[in-house]
Amino acid sequence: MKTKVFIHTNESKASKVVKEQLISMLEKSNFIVTSSFDKSIDLLVCVGGDGTFLQAAHKYGFPDVPFIGINTGHLGFFQEIMPNQLDEFIYYYNTNKYRIQKITTVQAEIKTKDETHNLIGINEIQIKGPSTSSTHLNISISGSFIERFSGDGILVSTPSGSTAYNYSLGGSIVDPRVNLLQVTPIAPINTTAYRCFTSSIVMPAELTLEVELDDYTNGKTLTVIYDGMPIVYDNVESVNFTMSKETINLLRFESYDFWAKVKSKFI
Ligand code: NAD
Repeated sequence: MKTKVFIHTNESKASKVVKEQLISMLEKSNFIVTSSFDKSIDLLVCVGGDGTFLQAAHKYGFPDVPFIGINTGHLGFFQEIMPNQLDEFIYYYNTNKYRIQKITTVQAEIKTKDETHNLIGINEIQIKGPSTSSTHLNISISGSFIERFSGDGILVSTPSGSTAYNYSLGGSIVDPRVNLLQVTPIAPINTTAYRCFTSSIVMPAELTLEVELDDYTNGKTLTVIYDGMPIVYDNVESVNFTMSKETINLLRFESYDFWAKVKSKFI
């Protein structure tokens, strides 16, 4: 049976050129390239940068189908291949010289006075105060009180998101084969008035990070930012973070090595 492929691209000229080249090469190699996403496809190719991959995974609702990224962006952490490797990609795919990397995600359940909202983050979910003022959050892990946080906010990162904003905030790089959530403070205040941890907290994936707001927190308005996309909620009572059930299947070639990629991108 022929392999059905759907190609998602961002709007850049370079990505559109790569998409046209890929369509022509795939069709010559007996693949079927579909013009719309549906559940019958065998492979989702994503042309762009990391942001394009993040948007595609959200847009198509975390499908089970494997993703492969072609990097036309800057860093390309999720993207496996470069535009000059299209031949290699087709060869490796046809000869089964690849494996699937499971990308885990984080979920935030936001309880307001009247409603409950759920958001999923592939890299991370952050909560911050609504403006430039500091926010105050009572933080527990599965019922055990940890601290009253004061500062700009907190960021809860997945292992694969640990190299993104988490790393810029001083969080640790985590091998995605480890199942955990990392809670990284954003500009924590440490004075005699307010005391909280200034380093990341790492928690097992099966526990829940519970955040409660008190009346001191700007009328209980919070900005929740998932993979860079912000939503403002009023009258927030609590936010619970857990590992989400949604995962993404990233196609990686046999030569893929997480630490080699980290080294090549950061050092
Ligand atoms: P963007 O255009 O602001 O890109 C930010 C950079 O983060 C890009 O270079 C991108 O390649 C890189 N990036 C994204 N995910 C990564 C990952 N898992 N590992 C290493 N680098 C990664 O925004 P975008 O492209 O739409 O991506 C959104 C992500 O950008 C957010 O999830 C957040 O983690 C990250 N971000 C980082 C900072 C920072 O480091 N100061 C600030 C804002 C957003």
